[in-house]
Amino acid sequence: MTAAHRSRMKIALITLGCPKNLVDAEVMLGLLDEAGHTLVASPEGADLAIVNTCSFIASAVAESTEVVAGCLELKRSGRLGGVLVAGCLPQRYGEDVFAMLPGVDGVVGCSDVAEIAEAVEALGSGASVTAVHEPLFLYDHTTPRVLGTPDHIAYVKISEGCDNRCAYCMIPSIRGRLRSREVASVRAEVEDLIDAGVREVNLIAQDTTAYGTDIAPQGSVVELLAELDRTDIDWIRILYTHPAHLSDDVIGAVAALDSVVPYLDIPIQHVADHILDTMGRGTDGAHIKALLSRVRDRVPDIWIRSSVIVGFPGETEEDFRELRDLVGSGVIEHLGVFEFSPEDGTRAALLPDQVPREVASERARDLIALTESLAKARGKALAGRRLTALIDDVAPEGITGRHAGQAWELDGVIHIPLASGVERGDMVDVEVTGPRDFDLEGRIALSGRNRL
Ligand code: SF4
Repeated sequence: MTAAHRSRMKIALITLGCPKNLVDAEVMLGLLDEAGHTLVASPEGADLAIVNTCSFIASAVAESTEVVAGCLELKRSGRLGGVLVAGCLPQRYGEDVFAMLPGVDGVVGCSDVAEIAEAVEALGSGASVTAVHEPLFLYDHTTPRVLGTPDHIAYVKISEGCDNRCAYCMIPSIRGRLRSREVASVRAEVEDLIDAGVREVNLIAQDTTAYGTDIAPQGSVVELLAELDRTDIDWIRILYTHPAHLSDDVIGAVAALDSVVPYLDIPIQHVADHILDTMGRGTDGAHIKALLSRVRDRVPDIWIRSSVIVGFPGETEEDFRELRDLVGSGVIEHLGVFEFSPEDGTRAALLPDQVPREVASERARDLIALTESLAKARGKALAGRRLTALIDDVAPEGITGRHAGQAWELDGVIHIPLASGVERGDMVDVEVTGPRDFDLEGRIALSGRNRL
């Protein structure tokens, strides 16, 4: 990148991967905006494109390198000034990113999100940048942020890093040790978000149920939920719990606290004992089954999201059938299905009895088809039911919203015919009319209250 580039730039930031990476991108946008740069939507014609990458599994690495390669093509054709690779790809591969993607001007790990303005300044002066260190960064309520979600929704990262050591997972080596924020800082951030018009906050971390176990005096997600429930937020949603750490107190808080929606994301990964043991999940099938039914017993109208890995080394047809039977029982409403990915640097990649890829793919297809048929049956069963929906979009072709059991960009939406007086961010009563694949269809309920 030539020194000719002026100190204040037009910068496009593309973010990939999970909501935790999205929050890092929002922080980088906040810091660059504060530094006086102009934030633009497209890399075409920009002075600099920042690609905030993901690298936890091979397919994410492939997507990240493809997006960066696209930006490098723009640079080569003179339609973009420079390319900075940020996030988990440089955090995992460090300076090797320059060799993986010739033409990249700089790399900034998720360790150095807070130094993004300085990195851009250095690039602007023609220097090459490599900012990858031990991942210790953790934002707080004073960190500038430009939301990448619709104005009425926000992710709130309550902790970063992970002290669990699941055999297949690279995240602890990329994101570092668990580090939780103070309850007061999370509350202050939520208060600011409410003032900015946010109605739904999604609490995120690598393991939200480990929140506060690393700080003294020890905090807990139960304490945090009670504190946030005292604010005027409409919806609090908990994502990324861990089945081995999801206590009855947390379940009780979800059941009791008004603003905590009846929704829990509980990634079980599998249910066969020897698979869970080899994965290092710290729990077993009996515990998981008992936990799921306990959650259903204690929280009326609960919606459970989960994710599973098929094709993990040693997984037999019988193990898969046990998992399929659990899913088939309908105890989980929303399911993410992943094929095992042998990641260099993980214990699982070195395990014997690796499952052939085509077998893993077949099992994944089977579970996804099963989940879809269950979703359609659930949609039919909901017909006539009245639910409160948070409106996400109002367009000429119709309205889309979500009930409390649908997380944004994860669990589908409710499609609603256009109706006057309904706007993004409204809470309205909707009568479900039936399924549309993984989604629902509905209409504004007559005499429905519009909770502006
Ligand atoms: S809980 Fe396990 S799967 Fe999740 S980030 Fe931590 S090590 Fe990875």
